[in-house]
Amino acid sequence: MPTETFEFQVEARQLLQMMIHSIYSNKDVFLRELISNASDALDKLRIESLRDDSLNAEVDDLHIEIEPDGEARTLTVRDNGIGMSRDEVVQLIGTIAKSGTAELLARLKEAKDETAAEGLIGQFGVGFYSSFMVADEVSLVTRKAGESQGTRWSSTGEGGYTVETVEDAPQGTAVTLRLKPEDAEDQLFDYTSPWKVREIVKRYSDFITWPIRMVTEAPKAEKASEAEAADGAEAADEAEKAEQTEAKAPEPETLNSMKALWARSRSEVSDEEYHELYKHISHDWTDPLETIQLRAEGTFEYQSLLFLPAHAPHDLFSQANKRGVQLYVKRVFIMDDCEALVPEYLRFVKGVVDAQDLSLNVSREILQQDRQIQLMRRRLVKKVLSTVKEMMANREENYTTFWREFGRVVKEGLLNDPDNRDTILRICSFASTHDKERLTTLARYVERMKDGQKHIYYMTGESRTAVENSPHLEAFQAKGLEVLILTDPVDEVWVGAVPEFEGKQLRSIAQGEAELDAEEEQGEEAKAEKERQRAEFAELLTWLGERLQEEVKEVRLTSRLTVSPACVVTDAGDVTPALQNLYRAMGQ
Ligand code: ADP
Ligand code: MG
Repeated sequence: MPTETFEFQVEARQLLQMMIHSIYSNKDVFLRELISNASDALDKLRIESLRDDSLNAEVDDLHIEIEPDGEARTLTVRDNGIGMSRDEVVQLIGTIAKSGTAELLARLKEAKDETAAEGLIGQFGVGFYSSFMVADEVSLVTRKAGESQGTRWSSTGEGGYTVETVEDAPQGTAVTLRLKPEDAEDQLFDYTSPWKVREIVKRYSDFITWPIRMVTEAPKAEKASEAEAADGAEAADEAEKAEQTEAKAPEPETLNSMKALWARSRSEVSDEEYHELYKHISHDWTDPLETIQLRAEGTFEYQSLLFLPAHAPHDLFSQANKRGVQLYVKRVFIMDDCEALVPEYLRFVKGVVDAQDLSLNVSREILQQDRQIQLMRRRLVKKVLSTVKEMMANREENYTTFWREFGRVVKEGLLNDPDNRDTILRICSFASTHDKERLTTLARYVERMKDGQKHIYYMTGESRTAVENSPHLEAFQAKGLEVLILTDPVDEVWVGAVPEFEGKQLRSIAQGEAELDAEEEQGEEAKAEKERQRAEFAELLTWLGERLQEEVKEVRLTSRLTVSPACVVTDAGDVTPALQNLYRAMGQ
């Protein structure tokens, strides 16, 4: 096939522009991203070769290689992993498939300053395109394992890219960056310096489970001239030695320790190291909120490191969202997004579980049914929930962030995980009429309940304002009764599944049964007054009832309202107005 020229997809072009003009201040991370991709490619090849015996691939010496070239001012990152077909190159490198890209770009446009923009990019993580922070041209040569032809991709990041077929590409992918000339004099960006490369790999990628080797050219000219300049036999000897070593190819130097962080005790590992592992797993550029370590010894041994992210991904509510826990068996990567390890309502948890006693070719189906895995999952869930509870008590700010980002998802657990329902209820926070600014827990609500108040009152709706403007709230407000304001779609559903908290029933104030407690305790006088009113308005009520026959079940007098003349209520057990809206939105 001839050389083809392609345009970048619109979103890709916009992101690239931002990379070229480097809105991200820490340019070093481009290397972390390339290594992360190479490591993923090696994982994929290993798994694929286990699954498919007929795959004609080399798997004996899987590794990553970094080659800085000071003279040409290029840096190459190579792997002998799964590689990409020509179509995949166009698809994966030319477009950004991540959901939320459009939204991200819109928000970037609105971003007030560089720090804000950087924060957004950090949350998104731009992966391969981050190369354009340091390079004015990036080329990639790749050959998919098992295929014979390779592909060369090349771009300056402006406008488009070219793709051509190459005959003699080695298996895997090599990415070569032509470093920006304007950074040539800047020590900070001296990415051809072996020292700099060593330092970046150590800092960001030490835990990568594949060897990361650096190959450097021996500095021939320098050594020779130094030796010539020196006097005496000793110097001549040195020169000879130097020459001998030059004759052989320089020994590649392995830069990473490859130590699995989850297998090391917490005191040995720095927070930064944990955070870099998190970033590799999650493709997030920002630090996690919490790191959770868990180990089990005995008959079913495993080690686990879980992370709570500091922000929700853009696709948390889309079908494409995957669960972020990886499964390893004895330090060997087995699979991503292992749904058997975490329930759906904890799908935002990222991390690694390394089990000792599983087969290396264990399948997703087997995992789903394995009793030991189910026990492990139960423990992981409990540990995550107890961590959140502990955050709530000791690191309120972190908890607040956590709840803002993931509360809507956690509440799904009230429906789907009845075993942990009470714990989940305790880590929930809700808006309430008690305090406009701050959320409340159910425990605090219960503490504030009035003498004689039997129920926990709530109202669901589209927004706080909608609920506050609802006539249903009036009487409760007037009597000083606190009402929880539930505005997430999921609230409609779980309230029906949760019967009570600490012996107090949850009660919607929009439903008929929710008569005010005060009313139940009315004296003789009030009852007589009510009877009198009923008689007085009987005719009006009958007339209204007939006029509204099609719209309502019944028209009656109420003590709910103080200002509004009338309101519509539903019977207990009927769908609430907000749920009716939800169903309507779902097309039912
Ligand atoms: P992400 O890693 O978050 O998916 P990237 O922008 O880093 O995003 O990479 C985009 C895609 O390009 C990867 O998902 C992968 O499919 C492909 N890719 C990138 N680098 C390599 C590589 N070295 N080998 C094989 N595929 C790669
Ligand atoms: Mg990547």
